[in-house]
Amino acid sequence: MTDTSYRTQTRIVHAGYDPTSHHGAVNPPVYHASTIAFPTVADLKAGQARRLDGVYYGRYGTPTTQALDAAVADLEGGRWCVSVGSGMAAVSCALMALLKAGDHLLMVDSVYWPTRSLCDTLLRDMGVRTTYYDPQIGDDIADLIEPQTRVVFTESPGSLTFEMQDIPAITAAAHTAGALVVLDNTWASPLLFRPFDHGVDLSVQAATKYIVGHSDAMLGTITMTDRALFERVKAMAGQIGHAVGADEAYLGLRGLRTLGARLRQHEAHALTVARWLQDRSEVARVLHPALPEDPGHALWKRDFSGASGLFGVLLKPGPTPEAMAAMLDGLRLFHMGFSWGGYESLILDTTASITRTVSPWTHDGPSLRLHIGLEDPTDLIADLEAGFGRMGGR
Ligand SMILES: *Cc1c(COP(=O)(O)O)cnc(C)c1O
Repeated sequence: MTDTSYRTQTRIVHAGYDPTSHHGAVNPPVYHASTIAFPTVADLKAGQARRLDGVYYGRYGTPTTQALDAAVADLEGGRWCVSVGSGMAAVSCALMALLKAGDHLLMVDSVYWPTRSLCDTLLRDMGVRTTYYDPQIGDDIADLIEPQTRVVFTESPGSLTFEMQDIPAITAAAHTAGALVVLDNTWASPLLFRPFDHGVDLSVQAATKYIVGHSDAMLGTITMTDRALFERVKAMAGQIGHAVGADEAYLGLRGLRTLGARLRQHEAHALTVARWLQDRSEVARVLHPALPEDPGHALWKRDFSGASGLFGVLLKPGPTPEAMAAMLDGLRLFHMGFSWGGYESLILDTTASITRTVSPWTHDGPSLRLHIGLEDPTDLIADLEAGFGRMGGR
C-alpha cells in the first residue's frame, strides 16, 4: 500500500509502483507466464503455501497482475483485489464465491442486464433464488431479507436508468441480518465512490471501462478489506479457471495512471452536454445524478466525490424508430457501441433494453445512453444538434 497520508491523485501515480525492483523501468514488465519454475523442493513447498498471494502458477497471478491488484485495492480503499478476465467474470466470481444452493440473493432491479441474466439462468439452475428490489428501496430492504438471504447486490447509479441507491442504509440493514453486500462500482471507477467507507463487503469493477480507459482490453476486479473474503474469492477464481492475460493486466495498470485526469474531463464535458440536452425541446428528462434536478442528486452529493461521463436521456414521445435511426446514423463523432469508459464518445438507443420486474418502467418515449469522451464538448453538441435536426425532419 502507498502511504495513506497521500492524496488520491498522488496514489494513482504511486500505487503498485516499484521501478527499483525491475532495473528502474517505470512500468512493470509484462510477465507472460504459465509455469513458475522452482529450483528446490523447499522452494516449491513455500510457493505452494503462498499460492493465494505469491507467484506460484500463472493462473493465480504474476508480478504484472499483482501490481494491478495492489493499485486497484489501494485506490478503491480495500486491502486485497482479485483481477479476472472481464467485468462479468468479476460479477459471477464474486457471486459464486458467496452463494450456494439454497441461498437467497437480493438483486437491484436496475442492474446491468447480463448480471440479471446470470441470476435468472445459471444461478437459478444452481439452486440460488433471486428476488429483485427497487433501486430506491433504502432501508426498507430489511423487509425483503429472509433467513436464507446471503447477499444483497447493489449497483449505483443503475445501468441505463441511473437511479442512485442509498448504499449505507442498505449495508446497515444487510449486516444486521447477517447478509453481505456486493457493489458493482463500475460507473464511479475506483475514485468517485469509496465502497468500504459505506459498508460494502465486495466491490466489483468492469475494469474494461474506465480503468483500461482506451477500449482495448477486457478486465475485471473484485476488491475487499476482509482477508477471509479475499481467500474465498481468490480460491473461487482459481477453481473456475479465471486468469488475467499479461497484456490486459499491463493495459489496466497503464490506464489507471491517467484515470484521475481523464475522469475530471469526462465529468466536466458530460455535464456540459447534459445541461445542453436539458434545454432541448425533444428531451423529457436527463438521467444524471450530478444534476441538481435529478431525484438521486442528494444521495450522489452525500456519498460521491464526482461523476463520470455516462448518463441517460429520456426523449419526449414522438420520434419513430426511423427518426431515431436518422439521428443516430448520421452522427460523426458519436459512434454506437456498448462498452464505454474509453476516450471516445458513444451513444446507444436504449428504448427496448430497459428491463424491470419490480415496478414497470413507465416512460413511453425513446431513451438514449451517452458516454461523453474526451473530445471538445462544443463539437459533440454540434453533432447532437445536427442529429436532432435529422430526427425532426422525419
Ligand atoms: C460493462 C459492465 C460490466 C461487464 O463488464 P465486461 O468487462 O464487459 O464483462 C459489468 N457491470 C457494469 C455496470 C458494466 O457497465
